Amino acid sequence: MHRCTLSLLASLLCAGVVSPALAAAKSRPRPPNIVFIFADDHAWQAISAYGEERHLIETPNIDRIATEGMRFDRCVVTNSICGPSRAAILTGTWSHINGFYNNTNSRFDDSQPTFPKRLQAAGYQTAIIGKWHLVSDPTGFDHWHILPGQGRYYNPPMIRNGETVRHQGYVTEIITDLTLEWLDHRDPDRPFLLMMQHKAPHRNWQPPIRHLNFDNDRVYPEPPTLFDDYSGRGIAERDQDMSLAHTMHDGDVKLRTPGGLTAEQRAAWDAYYKPRNEAFRKANLSGRDLIRWRYQRYMHDYLACIKGVDESVGRILDRLDELGLAENTIVVYSSDQGFFLGEHGWFDKRWIFEESLRTPLLVRWPGVVKPGSTCSAIVSNVDFAETFLEAAGLPVPERMQGASLVPILKGQVPDDWRTSFYYQYFEYPKPHHVRPHYGVVTDRYKLVKFFGTGEDYTELFDLQTDPHELRSVYSLTEYAPVVRELEAELARLRRELRVPADDQIPPEAFGNVADRQT
Ligand code: CA
Repeated sequence: MHRCTLSLLASLLCAGVVSPALAAAKSRPRPPNIVFIFADDHAWQAISAYGEERHLIETPNIDRIATEGMRFDRCVVTNSICGPSRAAILTGTWSHINGFYNNTNSRFDDSQPTFPKRLQAAGYQTAIIGKWHLVSDPTGFDHWHILPGQGRYYNPPMIRNGETVRHQGYVTEIITDLTLEWLDHRDPDRPFLLMMQHKAPHRNWQPPIRHLNFDNDRVYPEPPTLFDDYSGRGIAERDQDMSLAHTMHDGDVKLRTPGGLTAEQRAAWDAYYKPRNEAFRKANLSGRDLIRWRYQRYMHDYLACIKGVDESVGRILDRLDELGLAENTIVVYSSDQGFFLGEHGWFDKRWIFEESLRTPLLVRWPGVVKPGSTCSAIVSNVDFAETFLEAAGLPVPERMQGASLVPILKGQVPDDWRTSFYYQYFEYPKPHHVRPHYGVVTDRYKLVKFFGTGEDYTELFDLQTDPHELRSVYSLTEYAPVVRELEAELARLRRELRVPADDQIPPEAFGNVADRQT
């Protein structure tokens, strides 16, 4: 095909039809298209390509991106919560630079440089469809069709280029249909950036109606830390409000039927949940039995949402094949952060711990990424913008703080690649009472400092001896050299990333100031 094009150009040149400059431009490889598929709160434990020991679900379509591309095993986020992660991805910066600290009162400053703006200026068609969640309207996109705020699972209103549109059906399928429609009607002569951003599987995990019975009442294996007693750590881990035991409410576990369903959807919903809820009420569970029941219901609902997302990925990959686009399109699958699936007795995210710190990252780029390859280097959502810009042949703005993954995708981790990473979380006390903390992460250790509550303290975790992060070894004599080294590294990273001192952080960074405890 390529050869045919060249010989056609050569004959046109001979005939004097095409200028030499245009011929040279036409013979250059076209910049790759970018399809960025993003889920909200998709734990890596719930992607079969990551091989977690519980084998919670098969995700054959998402796994296809890993099989045909690269699986990143330690992609970490700068601040494990929705909006801040999205802002980090768009701008390639940490929260203290992009100003989006939390989901409570942050608003995305759209005057900042973002990778979609740069791609658009370079001639890419740019579109975002699905969840946006950054308060201000999207900029840098020729087309946007987004959920307002968190969005709804069933029959969601959406906003198309500023205009409200009503939709009937299930959110994951609607977002997929809209994405395919855009793909079919794009300008075929220009490269494109297409961001499909799912709402699922965000709390409260409302599944596609047709998948309600997808697991035939399977009993899911429990994580070893479901009944964590938080001993061996400080007050922060005990003091949170994100547990299956105390925080998960009736709406979360579907003891209430949600509003906004059509009569038909409601009938199917009740046909599935009502008899099971009756049995639950009769059993009159308490204590650990009640937590176990909640865990099972949580896994059913969460994983049914994932099944819908996996099908969506399959439909996009198939359409790229049908349109002949797969060869020159980078396909990325990721989530805004990880998520707790019962580990430590928790749901939600926020913490520097592995379940929420790590996010899935799978990248397919035919002819560049070796199929079936894996990467264990520390990479981050703060690297995505730089990666897309380099892939498109564009310079990376000085302000961006991450690093392009293109060399890694080509098979070579640069010698000077990062071996440590800076993390910082702010939102407190609402909604989940997770204390603000920052820290440094390496392949083996985590040094974590809880700050901003008047009860500052430090913890150290050794992932090699304590992979579930159940015991701080900060005060053990044998770890003193490690602590010294990590304290120095933490200080270096904070200088390099221009992190403000604790007392210089704007009060609104923590969320609603009125909610703060004195
Ligand atoms: Ca999220």
